[in-house]
Amino acid sequence: MMTSIFEYPKQELQLDLVAHGFKKYLAEQIFDWIYVKNIYSFDEMTNISKPDRIKLQEHYTIEPLKIAVQQQSKDGTVKFLFELADGYKIETVLMPQNYGNSVCVTTQVGCNMACTFCASGLLKKTRNLSTAEITQQVMMVNRYLATVGERVSHIVVMGIGEPLDNFENVINFVNIINDPKGYQIGARHITISTCGLIPKIKQFADLKIQVNLAISLHAPNNSIRNQLMPINKAYPVEKLIDAVRYYIEQTNRRVTFEYILIDDVNDSRETALELAKLIRGINAYVNLIPYNTVAENSYCRSTKINQFFETLQQQKINCIVRREFGHDIDAACGQLRAKNEGIIRK
Ligand code: SAH
Repeated sequence: MMTSIFEYPKQELQLDLVAHGFKKYLAEQIFDWIYVKNIYSFDEMTNISKPDRIKLQEHYTIEPLKIAVQQQSKDGTVKFLFELADGYKIETVLMPQNYGNSVCVTTQVGCNMACTFCASGLLKKTRNLSTAEITQQVMMVNRYLATVGERVSHIVVMGIGEPLDNFENVINFVNIINDPKGYQIGARHITISTCGLIPKIKQFADLKIQVNLAISLHAPNNSIRNQLMPINKAYPVEKLIDAVRYYIEQTNRRVTFEYILIDDVNDSRETALELAKLIRGINAYVNLIPYNTVAENSYCRSTKINQFFETLQQQKINCIVRREFGHDIDAACGQLRAKNEGIIRK
């Protein structure tokens, strides 16, 4: 069976190469060609012997993803729709920032978390993305950026899917892009966002890696959170907060709480006070996100964003209001879903 070369963190690639009779050091050369030099053909890897190059082609695929659609927003955001080998389509968004180029990657085809406000969950999960398919999203954006002499510097794992529901592949992906002889994207430049899968948060904490963790909190109590996020019935708020404390103990990292503000659902002053009380003393900051309306539900954007922000500030809670990107091309947060199902399905 041929495997994609983008599937392997360096150590795994070394093991696989040796198992196929290659020398271990080839891994370093291959990483340099694909992740540093943006070369995607074994033939062009001129410091590798011809027989080895031919043999590599017999064992590994190296093809890039197929671009189905590429859209550019007025604010510089670029949305890519990629077609996978089995015909499913996934979305990736490039957001140029003043500190670098941030890319939002997708981890699953569809999502099973069924958050009631989110457009992604309208398509149930069909399958996890492989490590290679997640890595290739970054590779494709890097290939695009190379034409203007730039590269991807930051990753947010906030596209379609629940990353911690595809744990192993997401961690392998992190190891690949974090490799100092590859893309060199520092752990602190990588953010993984979760709806709150408690056992996986603990597993993630135990890895003690320096990647940023963002928690999609969206409500300070179970009655509101149950309405918004069905996963809360399995993993309620107070237990989630315990898991966050555990994560901080293990890693010493500050966490981010994401909080979308929805009109008359989770945006009252009382709710802000309740949120402040819930997270007081935790090493965290709150990222307030103006809700992006989606056609399939009746939620609206809050009209009290400033009041909510100011209430948290008065309560001495660290918080910011998140900038929006790509509104005009439906690339804004939570809209990473093709308008009609036919686009994503085969
Ligand atoms: N499953 C993961 C990551 C994907 S969602 C998670 O839940 O965190 C990335 C972020 O976008 C989450 O915080 C999610 O709640 C938010 N989001 C989803 N739909 C949104 C919308 N319509 N407007 C604003 N944010 C949204």
